[in-house]
Amino acid sequence: MTLAEEHKLLACVHCGLCLEACPTYVLTGDENDSPRGRIYLMRAVEENKLSADSSTFKLHIDRCLGCRACEPVCPAGVQYGQLLEASRAELFEPDKKRGFTHRCLRLVLRHVWLHPARLRFAFSVSRMLRDSGVAGLLIRTRIPRLFSHRFEFALALLDSSSPVSLGSDTDVDSSTRRATEPVADEPSCNPTMLFAGCVGEGLFSRVNKATARVLNVNGFGTSLPEGQGCCGALHAHAGDLEGARTLARRNIEAFDDSENLPIITNAGGCGAMLATYGHLLADDSLFSEQATKFSARVRDVSQQLESVKLKEGLGQQSEMTTYDASCHLIYGQGATETPLKLLQAISDLNLVALEGSERCCGAAGIYNLLEPDMSQGVLQEKLAHVRETGAAILTTGNPGCQMQIGAGARLTGIPLRVCHPVELLDESYRRAGFYKESTEC
Ligand code: SF4
Ligand code: SF4
Repeated sequence: MTLAEEHKLLACVHCGLCLEACPTYVLTGDENDSPRGRIYLMRAVEENKLSADSSTFKLHIDRCLGCRACEPVCPAGVQYGQLLEASRAELFEPDKKRGFTHRCLRLVLRHVWLHPARLRFAFSVSRMLRDSGVAGLLIRTRIPRLFSHRFEFALALLDSSSPVSLGSDTDVDSSTRRATEPVADEPSCNPTMLFAGCVGEGLFSRVNKATARVLNVNGFGTSLPEGQGCCGALHAHAGDLEGARTLARRNIEAFDDSENLPIITNAGGCGAMLATYGHLLADDSLFSEQATKFSARVRDVSQQLESVKLKEGLGQQSEMTTYDASCHLIYGQGATETPLKLLQAISDLNLVALEGSERCCGAAGIYNLLEPDMSQGVLQEKLAHVRETGAAILTTGNPGCQMQIGAGARLTGIPLRVCHPVELLDESYRRAGFYKESTEC
């Protein structure tokens, strides 16, 4: 841990105000699964009273969702997310003894995720499994469950990244077949740059296209800079800070722009990561200044659209719709109300509030596969609240949450379609006939 981070550890005054905000503490009731408890453990390691190789340290640091719900409630302003990142970096060191799952994770992060061609190949195989219906079929046979729940859930996650029907007048096939190319930019549009993301491009390219169209309707042009790739969030959350820095440098170079155009994301997890490049590369003499400027340009699509009066869409939605907030969208980017404004632009949307919308869903990157029991505990609470709403459609601004809630609903038999708010707005614009007018910015 660096001196700066040690200082952040000392900022905790042990008041305990963060405990009830922490989903893992609420679930287990164990102080070591709370922010305060974890900070105690970090301090003990820092002061050499506890080994970073101890099972206690590994267990409770691994069990943290990294949701950062503890940050806004902390009166001392403890930057818990950065402390967690530093602790995970310590656990990622090659000399630390880690179990099979963590060794596999290291292998994938280092030998697949850092190599764009290999990553593209991995996503094309995943899409083949999904789009051929094999993943869905396997789940229905219940055979994967005989091997392991983790395997079954992984398949359900993949299957839940499929497009869903968004209106009573369209079915899934027709909605995916319709024109999906972004509307051509006009030179007079306000230009922006779109961050596509690795999972975003690999499994949710339709959301990227919908984002471009919705921005275009509202007067923004979009370009998709070449050379961009994964944001590095998976690496940073796993403690592979060097991997995260490599990816950050690539993105900074790809988005290099003399006009400092806004960088738009539609994924809460990616946006929160991109917004921390300044911190991640603070000690990099070549990139630190550029990284800070890059982070200042990052906006969620809902934040960018807040700067204009949104065009109104046509919902025709008799079905109830709800919204679940992505933790990283709230705590990493401060986008609490703006995603709801996208939904409010759909004139006749039947929007119902979701209790505990701000609580983590248990996805947290690939936490759902690394810590399946804890993740399921958090997810079941979320699904109980979803059931209470009676909603048929749930919108959320992060692909990880989309897959997590979709997979949970699917395996527990809740008839729920999950999509991004921008997809729903895009569909409402299509109904309202905006795409014919959208090139007139
Ligand atoms: S609220 Fe902040 S100061 Fe209080 S125990 Fe939690 S982290 Fe420490
Ligand atoms: S990041 Fe989330 S899970 Fe981790 S200590 Fe904070 S509130 Fe708890």
